[in-house]
Amino acid sequence: MSPTVDAIDVGYLGLDRAAASFLVCAQGQPPILIECGTAACQPRLHRALDERGLRPADIAGLFVTHIHLDHAGGAGHFAAEGVPVYVHPFGVRHLADPSKLIASSRRVHGPSYDRFYGDPLPCPPQRLHATPDGTVMRIAGLRVTAIETPGHARHHHAWLVEEDHPAPSTASIHHSRHLFTGDVASMRVPGSEFISVPMPPPEFDLAAWRHSLDRLTAALRAGGETGETWTTLWLTHFGPILGGSGQALAHIAEARRRLDAEAELVRGLVEEQDRGLSDTEAVARYGAWLWPQAAQAGVSEAQRSAFLGPSFCRMNLHGVRRWRDQVAAAERAPG
Ligand SMILES: [Zn+2]
Repeated sequence: MSPTVDAIDVGYLGLDRAAASFLVCAQGQPPILIECGTAACQPRLHRALDERGLRPADIAGLFVTHIHLDHAGGAGHFAAEGVPVYVHPFGVRHLADPSKLIASSRRVHGPSYDRFYGDPLPCPPQRLHATPDGTVMRIAGLRVTAIETPGHARHHHAWLVEEDHPAPSTASIHHSRHLFTGDVASMRVPGSEFISVPMPPPEFDLAAWRHSLDRLTAALRAGGETGETWTTLWLTHFGPILGGSGQALAHIAEARRRLDAEAELVRGLVEEQDRGLSDTEAVARYGAWLWPQAAQAGVSEAQRSAFLGPSFCRMNLHGVRRWRDQVAAAERAPG
């Protein structure tokens, strides 16, 4: 038997299918949870667990891809119930003491912070497990492997989940694996296949992101494109790339194409801002490039303004500026 995955819509931003939490279960075992939404999403997530006959304490382990609040804001709520939390080593101290995370998120999100994010609870240190790249955890009948995948954030992992001790494959039994990619395989605007690339400050890094996509491609190929193992990619924003490893590889290739194109466009706009282009004009120019492509890929007007509006464009302009300045500073540094 292959593990089952149940994608729960956590209601992030009050929108449908804006962010997921994944309940993953090996037959006859308690489930694990991958991602958990913001603190403000917890009542809805806990209701969804309740509808499935589960209490938070029944979760064998919570795995977060990175510590941004839409992925890990509820980690302290689960840790308070005794659930072990697995996170990239760089993320540990921010989950133990979320005060910096809270201050920067309040600054970025302004008046919408309390409604859509809410303050994360600190995770008791004894519940936190720093999981370096390549760590393999055996938990609740599953093997969970950490694949370090920076680019969107430095403290980012993709989690590869498969059954522990599977029976040998036969012509009729194929093993499924599940690859939970957080934000590194980018996002799909709900209701369409349009890929949008979140490049937030302060850790967006184009070179690291490209390398991470190579790592995901290698992990998918290691399972065989059409062979005995079938890998499904799961995006936190939002849901599965259906069709197995071949479709997963096609998605990664398209995510890379969009990453390169969008980073180049935004970098050009940042350079024009240096020469006097206003913020408003930069957002308008970004939108004039992005929005028709989204419309052509089936993104509705309402979804476009919810997911790809001026605040999305502004976030990417800031993220790319910060990355460009850091690369320049590193090149100037002696030695
Ligand atoms: Zn993120």
